[in-house]
This record gives sequence, structure tokens and C-alpha cells, in this order.
Amino acid sequence: MLNIDRHTALQMDREDPLAPLRQQFSLPDAVIYLDGNSLGAMPKTAMLRAQQVINQEWGTDLIKSWNKAGWFDLPSRLGNLLAPLIGAKADEVVVTDSTSINLFKAIAAALQMQAQHAQRKVIVTERSNFPTDIYMAEGLTRWLDKGYRLHLVDTPEELNRAINNETALVMLTHVNYRTGYLHDMTAITAHAHSQGALALWDLAHSAGAVPVDLHHAKADFAVGCTYKYLNGGPGAPAFIWVPQHHQAAFNHPLTGWWGHANPFAMQPGFAATAGIRRALCGTQPIVSLAMVESGLQVFAQTTMNAIRKKSLALTDLFIALVESRCQQHPLQLVTPRQHAQRGSQASFTHPHAYSVMQALIERGIIGDYREPAIMRFGFTPLYTQFVDVWDAVEGLREILDHQAYSLNAERNAVT
Ligand SMILES: *Cc1c(COP(=O)(O)O)cnc(C)c1O
Repeated sequence: MLNIDRHTALQMDREDPLAPLRQQFSLPDAVIYLDGNSLGAMPKTAMLRAQQVINQEWGTDLIKSWNKAGWFDLPSRLGNLLAPLIGAKADEVVVTDSTSINLFKAIAAALQMQAQHAQRKVIVTERSNFPTDIYMAEGLTRWLDKGYRLHLVDTPEELNRAINNETALVMLTHVNYRTGYLHDMTAITAHAHSQGALALWDLAHSAGAVPVDLHHAKADFAVGCTYKYLNGGPGAPAFIWVPQHHQAAFNHPLTGWWGHANPFAMQPGFAATAGIRRALCGTQPIVSLAMVESGLQVFAQTTMNAIRKKSLALTDLFIALVESRCQQHPLQLVTPRQHAQRGSQASFTHPHAYSVMQALIERGIIGDYREPAIMRFGFTPLYTQFVDVWDAVEGLREILDHQAYSLNAERNAVT
């Protein structure tokens, strides 16, 4: 039996340098929130910012706010605040649109950059990638109807072998949404480049969760969510990164007026603006976009290395406690044990995973369920406490020991 009790967990919280940051989030008392990987918690300043945007900027200043309140520049200003978290430079990131749409732009631009190599027709990705990433690539290649195809791989070895001189693009998610498997971005990108392929990384489960250094990895493009670990709010706009050396060649088909060199000249004929703003399409959802800043302001008070250290301590503790306190139950860890391969979550399979997760949620222990038979627990060092880990495992143990879950739990639309 692991020699950690609840007092030890409380002691770990007292010694945790990130503990004070939890005060900056609005979290209900009776809830242990282990789903910040799906929807981040609300920074308290978001409420004030929402009131300011709606009452003052919209309600009072009206149209003047496009200039006066900086609405027009907001996608780039937020991109510059986000850049240090992912190893991007200034003026390389915009916060805009959804991850799905940004994937579409990046895949389209990458295929066009490779178009002079007639044999490069393949996009390599993983079958276990988040479905929308695969769907967007499928939709674009089918629509182009130029012989592009997807190669879906199942293992890291297969991935290495699949990348060859027919590969146009390697499109991967850095941290797998289901298992929490963390790819070696630098090594895979180097291999892709050695074969003449470009590398597009989806950072949905890594931005704000693990240290990312896009320039060090020599990645070509990246996209990601702000509503998960970055705490930007439900459906908050996503981001897209194009490094300076690729910007001039970055041409995507969603050529709306916000990507135009001179949008208010109102001229027919599209001419892409220089720089990262060419990745924009049209008018942004300003109220939602403005909330992203509140999440980023919390990150500005710490470092990704400090966050990573606590994240690994939280997931290590959770895994160790589940495996010792629930050992007689058929739980199987699907998250890598090696730190170098682990994101900021821990996932376990159980034959009745959906029902057990519903019972946990009823007790206020909020994780989520992912097919097939996976209970997923996300750990967000800005506000997850060590005692939350202890209490969550205790809740899980009680539910399993007493079979306190209903096998005919109804499936909600969102699991
Ligand atoms: C969450 C997630 C998405 C979500 O895309 P949306 O367009 O915001 O719905 C996409 N890709 C990955 C890898 C994700 O984890």
C-alpha cells in the first residue's frame, strides 16, 4: 500500500508554489474539477472583462471600440501573449476561428507549398488522432480531387516508416486527447524534414499543459485550442502559428477581408496582407475573444516549467493512488508511465467506464468519458490541488468497492 494519506496530500498543497494561483479561478466548493483538459475553469477576471466588453465597449462606445478598445488588433495582441507559452516569436500567432478551421487553413497552405513536388500526395497522421483533425484533412483532400490521400498509422514505428518521399505533410496532435501520449515533436519533425515533408502540430492538449518550443522543434505550422488548458471560455477562438520564414508562402483558400492587405480600401481582388494576419478570415467574435486574455494573464504569473513540474507530480500521485487503493478492480492505465511521453492527464479503462464516470460526476468529481471504455482525468496545475487527487481517488474507490453506479446510465450527447 502506498504510504500517502490525506494529510500528506494537504502538506503537498502547503508546499506547492503554484497553490496561490487557484484563488484566481472561480470554482464551486463542492466540486473536484478534473476536466480542465476539455473546458478550462473560469478566471475570476473574465467576469469583469465580460462586463467591460459588453457594457462599456459595446453598450456605450459602440462602433468606436474597433479602434478605441483595440478590437481590430485583438487576434494579434492575444497571439503575442500566447506566443511565449509555445516557443513562438512575436507576430507569429493569431487567436482566431476554431481549431478545425485553422487546421483547414494550415493543411491547405502546406499542400500548396508542396505542390511543385508532383509525387508528394500523402498526409500522414494517426488513426487515434482527434477525429476533427482527420475529418478536416479528409474533407479538404476529397474536395481538391487531385489524388491526395491520408495514411493513418497505428504505432510510432509505423509512423516512422510511413514518412517518405511521397509525404507532403505530417499532421499530428502533440498530446493525444484520449491516452495523454506525448510525442517527441523535435525528433518527428526532424524525420519529416529529412524526407522533405512539412510538419503540422495540433497543440490542443499541450498549450498551457506541457512546455512547447515550436522553434526549437523546427515545426512548420501549429494550431490549438484556447478553451482547454488556457482557460479561454467555452468555444473561445483557437490559435494558429506560422513562423516568420513560412509566412510569405502561407496561402490558404479562406481569403476573407480580414486577411487582406488593406481591408478598408474595399477593393475587389484579394491581396494577402504580409505577416501572420493573413491567417485571419473574417470578423471575430469579440466578446468570446476578449475572454482569452483573462486566461493568459494567469499564465503570465508563472512558467511552463513550474506548471510541468506540478503536472507530473499530480499525475504521478493520481496513478499511484488509483493503482494501490483500487487494485482489486479491473482498471487499466492507458497513459504512458514515462514522464517524457505523458501529457497532463491520466486515463484508465474500466469495463463500466461510462457508468462509473457518471457516478463520479454525481459526487462532484468531474472527469469525462471517451470511447472506448476510457475514464479521462485532466490535471491543471493552476488550480488542481494535491488533496483533490486524494479525494478523487477515494471517491473512485468507494464507488467501485460498493458498485455504486448504474449500468443503465443514459448517454448524454456530450460525454
Ligand atoms: C479539442 C480538440 C479539437 C477541437 O476542435 P474545435 O474545432 O475547437 O472543435 C481539435 N483537435 C484536437 C486534437 C483537440 O483535442
